[in-house]
Amino acid sequence: MRAHADPAVLLPIDGLPALLAALGRDGYRCIGPAVEKGAIVMRELDGNDALPRGLQAEQGPGHYRLVADPHNRYFAWANGPQALKPLFFAPQETLWRAGRGDDGALRFEAVLPEAPKLAVIGARACDLAALALQDAHFLRPERVDAHYAARRARLFLVAVQCAVPAATCFCGSTGDGPVPTAGYDITLAELPEGFVAHAGSDAGRALLATLDLAPATPRQLDAVQVQGEAAAAAQARALPGKDLHDALMRRLDHPRWDEVAMRCLACGNCTAVCPTCFCHAEFDQPALDGASSTHQRVWDSCFGESHGHLHGFNVRPDIRTRYRQWLTHKLAGWHAQFGRSGCTGCGRCIAWCPVGIDLTGEVAALMAEQP
Ligand code: SF4
Ligand code: SF4
Repeated sequence: MRAHADPAVLLPIDGLPALLAALGRDGYRCIGPAVEKGAIVMRELDGNDALPRGLQAEQGPGHYRLVADPHNRYFAWANGPQALKPLFFAPQETLWRAGRGDDGALRFEAVLPEAPKLAVIGARACDLAALALQDAHFLRPERVDAHYAARRARLFLVAVQCAVPAATCFCGSTGDGPVPTAGYDITLAELPEGFVAHAGSDAGRALLATLDLAPATPRQLDAVQVQGEAAAAAQARALPGKDLHDALMRRLDHPRWDEVAMRCLACGNCTAVCPTCFCHAEFDQPALDGASSTHQRVWDSCFGESHGHLHGFNVRPDIRTRYRQWLTHKLAGWHAQFGRSGCTGCGRCIAWCPVGIDLTGEVAALMAEQP
């Protein structure tokens, strides 16, 4: 079954510079994949040469390594450590500033971020699903987060269908990938001769129209469908269901929580790389002269000791309760908050956990025994 409503066109394999140039003419700064310190990260592109080609990302529990792609593709790498999250929910930023005016009165001033038009090249299906969840949190009508909204409003998303999922990927079992089906302006599927492209928004349609591309052929559309099905079939990890709320809540006293606590370092890497985690802390940073201060927001993690402090005691005093909070909030609590699990199957928490704790393995161990 083909997922896209718009007709497909073919961007030639050497056509990415034309796509980037068209985005540049529309005033977008292009953010895309680049190799940095042995990993593929998303950063501002300075031309087509910056796009990594001929690389795959070999991933496993606590393991990430770039290796050669025998087919020299642009997008044969699965996701890197960064999701889209840092582009909209900044790791640290100033929310407001306070200071005294000449009359000595205190004044408070909102500090909104600079929000240039951004085009992101190479977003994967799991990250589009995660972005929709971040939207549900930061853009809820009763409390729109002005900082997130300012960045999010000027975004153009070029998605890419995954052809080579990592061994850590399990988006097929969460229902979020590997084929992008929503949330993009343009989506690309890479074939040897070029990229089969679909528009998903008016902005995407308008941009593709400027490139004067030929329609994709039925053979190319079939190849894209086969590629998506093969990528889904290649995923070896899975969660045992899309809604684990009741099953997990029945297992809050399971001995596995003690077992995983023996291995977990409470470092918070999993929450930092997770594209859907949105916990943050806030603090005031006074200027050295004492005349003003800024109010900062910084990413926080449920693995931190201070995260569970409430009125003089800690509701999560040990790693057992913190790991349990992470897993049960992500896979159970989110159903009540957002109507779905908070996991989109990107596998980052598995690859970037320094001791290789595997969320799918922990869930399997919890489910193996009846409580
Ligand atoms: S819980 Fe892990 S696999 Fe799921 S979305 Fe977060 S980082 Fe990805
Ligand atoms: S599960 Fe792994 S990444 Fe997460 S806090 Fe524990 S040791 Fe760190």
